[in-house]
Amino acid sequence: MATYSQSRKLANVLYDIRGPVLGAAQRMENEGHRIIKLNIGNTAPFGFEAPDAVLVDMIKNLPTAQGYSDARGIYSARTAVSQHYQSRGIQTIGVEDVWIGNGVSELITLSLMAFLNGGDEVLVPTPDYPLWTASVALAGGTPVHYLCDEEDGWQPDLEDLEAKITPRTKGIVIINPNNPTGAVYGKQTLERMAELARKYGLVLFSDEIYEKILYDGNEHIHTAAIAGDDVLTLTFSGLSKAYRVCGFRAGWMAITGPKRAAADFIEGINLLANMRLCPNVPAQHAIQTALGGYQSINDLILPGGRLLEQRDLAYRMLNDIPGVSTEQAHGALYLFPKLDPEAFPIENDEQFALDLLKQQKILISHGTAFNWVRPDHFRLVFLPEDKLLTEAVGRIAEFLSTYTPR
Ligand code: PLP
Repeated sequence: MATYSQSRKLANVLYDIRGPVLGAAQRMENEGHRIIKLNIGNTAPFGFEAPDAVLVDMIKNLPTAQGYSDARGIYSARTAVSQHYQSRGIQTIGVEDVWIGNGVSELITLSLMAFLNGGDEVLVPTPDYPLWTASVALAGGTPVHYLCDEEDGWQPDLEDLEAKITPRTKGIVIINPNNPTGAVYGKQTLERMAELARKYGLVLFSDEIYEKILYDGNEHIHTAAIAGDDVLTLTFSGLSKAYRVCGFRAGWMAITGPKRAAADFIEGINLLANMRLCPNVPAQHAIQTALGGYQSINDLILPGGRLLEQRDLAYRMLNDIPGVSTEQAHGALYLFPKLDPEAFPIENDEQFALDLLKQQKILISHGTAFNWVRPDHFRLVFLPEDKLLTEAVGRIAEFLSTYTPR
């Protein structure tokens, strides 16, 4: 019998947040167990709803959204994205500088595929949103991880970043606000990162999908606004999180900086955009309405807002567990708690996640799935409402009170 193997291109491509632990959880669910899922930033199952105007607009446009659109996206969506950035001080993003995608995910992979050659290195944060590491590897590049420093509120360690730049380095990935740590980067940090990109001729890939999910008065600063005209910057964002429509698959990418010098790269992006024909058309209609309408996310993140309160609840409860400590999240939907290695000498954190799942029916993501360097963290999504979140973190506490790593 012939055997059919995956391609060698996938040899270094890892995406463990949807790996064996999730498979085990799905099997348990099929057997009738109730699993509390704190593993993925998917808002809808936790009762978050999209703004009405976004839904109404998408439904209204459905009859006219039956054909393929321009491969780069419909004009109204690209205009809305360009106006979004222009209103935030980035005047150089015109309609021609915007691509719409089936979520940010598609554009991450597409842009890296268009840019990297075998052996090119890209600096990716650790911990990271692992799609970045996986997409660099899929595109034939080598992900090189720069540290984010927990002791410094998970800010990027800029000395480590610079020390890892080699003649093969082509780009730096910035995730701000950060998944999985919740860190938000200030102006000075972004200026120093842009300065390194300028000095070594690197492209900045700035993932800003959580740009509107900010707590405690934190402000979002666009990397592109700092990087200016002489650093090629790709900015990624979309509707999935701030507008609670992960399933619509609506994201975008905008390019700034020395575009003329990037003409060939841009041609490559357009080639790949043409090959996918176009992004999901009905969801593209939601973009203009979302960006232009009332920003209902504020009701969730300002004092009294559901997301803010759940974040605080999870933070308090986790820090009350002996042997667990977590930095506060200033943005996004996640906490990335540390398990004290003396209290819990874990060698395999995937096994830890599996043990927690089996014993307490709680699904979290283990830290090394985010390319974190030691098996001593996990990521928790604080999307469940108070009662469920209290139950979930309570069960994690109960589990840890007797846990001996194998
Ligand atoms: N970037 C980050 C940092 C994310 O956390 C996610 C999803 O969780 C994505 C990109 C993917 O977003 P999309 O739904 O637009 O593909």
